[in-house]
Amino acid sequence: MPICPSCLYEYQEGIETCSDCGVKLVDHLPRKIEQELNEEFVPLHTLPGQVYAEMVKEALEQAGIPCMIKTDVLSSSLLVAANAPGNESRIFVKKRDQKQAQEILHTMMDHI
Ligand SMILES: [Zn+2]
Repeated sequence: MPICPSCLYEYQEGIETCSDCGVKLVDHLPRKIEQELNEEFVPLHTLPGQVYAEMVKEALEQAGIPCMIKTDVLSSSLLVAANAPGNESRIFVKKRDQKQAQEILHTMMDHI
């Protein structure tokens, strides 16, 4: 069933353009952003800095696992100066991807 990606109105077979939006109809909707946000992310691992986190993110994305990075920068510069690590990055993945993500992370850790 063709559907308008803009207004989500479903059309009959054979129609190619949404009469309201003038947008080309698609067969399948791209995954909706709201769905993404609603899905539960669980913390996977904490890494000592964003560089590592980006590496892990890249590996996860290559495996088709959506993930997000949250970096906690210790807000007080005094605190950073006093105790070195500075910041840490936490990786979040969706709950259903957690097992697979952990395996990938595990493999990666051997190389870091
Ligand atoms: Zn439309």
